[in-house]
Amino acid sequence: MVVAGAGLGGLRAAEQLRAQGFTGEITVVGDEPYPPYNRPPLSKEALLSSGDAVRAAELAASLAFRPRAAAGDVRWRLGRTVVAADLTARSITLDDGEVLGWGALVVATGLRPRRLPQTAPARGRHTIRTAADAAGLRHEVRPGVRVVVVGGGFVGCEAAATLAALGCAVSVVEPLPVPMVRGVGHRVGAALLEHHRAAGVQFVTGTGVSRLIGGRPGHPDADRVRGVVLDDGRTLDADLVVESVGSQATVEWLDGNGLDLTDGVVCDNHLRVEGRADVVAVGDVARFPNPRFDSVPRRVEHWCIPGETARRAAGTLIAHLNGTALPDASFAPLPSFWSDQFGLRLQSFGAPGLADRVEVLEGELGQLPAGVAVGCHRGGEVVGVILINIPPARHPGYRSLLSSAATPAAQLL
Ligand SMILES: Cc1cc2nc3c(=O)[nH]c(=O)nc-3n(C[C@H](O)[C@H](O)[C@H](O)COP(=O)(O)OP(=O)(O)OC[C@H]3O[C@@H](n4cnc5c(N)ncnc54)[C@H](O)[C@@H]3O)c2cc1C
Repeated sequence: MVVAGAGLGGLRAAEQLRAQGFTGEITVVGDEPYPPYNRPPLSKEALLSSGDAVRAAELAASLAFRPRAAAGDVRWRLGRTVVAADLTARSITLDDGEVLGWGALVVATGLRPRRLPQTAPARGRHTIRTAADAAGLRHEVRPGVRVVVVGGGFVGCEAAATLAALGCAVSVVEPLPVPMVRGVGHRVGAALLEHHRAAGVQFVTGTGVSRLIGGRPGHPDADRVRGVVLDDGRTLDADLVVESVGSQATVEWLDGNGLDLTDGVVCDNHLRVEGRADVVAVGDVARFPNPRFDSVPRRVEHWCIPGETARRAAGTLIAHLNGTALPDASFAPLPSFWSDQFGLRLQSFGAPGLADRVEVLEGELGQLPAGVAVGCHRGGEVVGVILINIPPARHPGYRSLLSSAATPAAQLL
């Protein structure tokens, strides 16, 4: 068994294979030099609490997942990149030319951040995906430093809040009218925008970044970012730029196998990669249909998904290897996502991004710190719930709305 990718999905896949009875050899290949570690703190408390001299290795070690005994005999090949796969020959090739054969393969290579197209200036530009990224950014942060965050998605907004707490002067540039709109919709996004502004982050919405400005030509800092030019012609000064313009699935190593790799790896509801019984995908890279919502395969970039897909995918592979039947029951995980921004704890259940209408169930959108609950509807169905500063003990009640389709959420409550 070979697992490509040593993040949360790769780790959980190895653990689940053992937990569900697979006794053969398991090798996990990961291009980062560290054992699997937790990414969500990289834009939140880990960035805030780590000193400016923090090193990536220390950060990764402080966030490492506790090893579970079930996967104690897994072979880890860390600091090695899978560069190619031949699904017909059942092999993968590593960056040093080594070829590993497999009886079954788990695709767990996750995402990498998209970058702005301009390659220069190169210095002072950051993304936040890995411990190395976060350490590199933290190293350049000082009180008073001017930071432009390009992109107002969840990671961009978390980074803005954290960098502001570190004393930076932060601006966020977002082409849409409100931030986080794909995750929370316009009304909640607008309320979060006001909360960020009140906390001192400058938001420039409705325009993108057309280009980056470097230092004076010939000057030692010529290749260091000094500002951004917006699509509407305005200029923002910047000592640092955080590029938070989305992610792309890390799938190029699967090229040449006839798979649809346009946005992750398309899978069926058993997580089998199209046309293959011996290849599954897990985590951020897996594009699978969730019958809870519809039959459209989608990627879900939530921390809970690697664990859930790994459990399902391990069962699929073990059934294949043992020649036993796959379970009839469909796989319908409930997506769950949290975010921390300026003292707000946002918790989402379901898929609010699919909603065509939202309904405030509790509290007021103008008073987020006091607690707000929002139901998200598609037609007559509740497809998502967004809770902001609602105590965790009350989350199960709201979460249960998602299994009660076609009844207005307020009536259910
Ligand atoms: C900054 C940040 C904040 C987040 N905050 C939250 C949050 O608050 N709440 C939430 O629910 N989710 C959050 N997430 C999302 C969550 O962390 C991810 O959903 C989760 O990490 C996905 O795990 P994964 O194993 O699928 O992918 P990854 O964690 O990306 O792991 C994939 C691994 O494979 C490696 N790899 C890629 N290509 C190759 C190759 N060719 N060969 C070998 N190895 C390779 C990668 O380097 C990586 O180590 C956040 C993510 C980030 C980056």
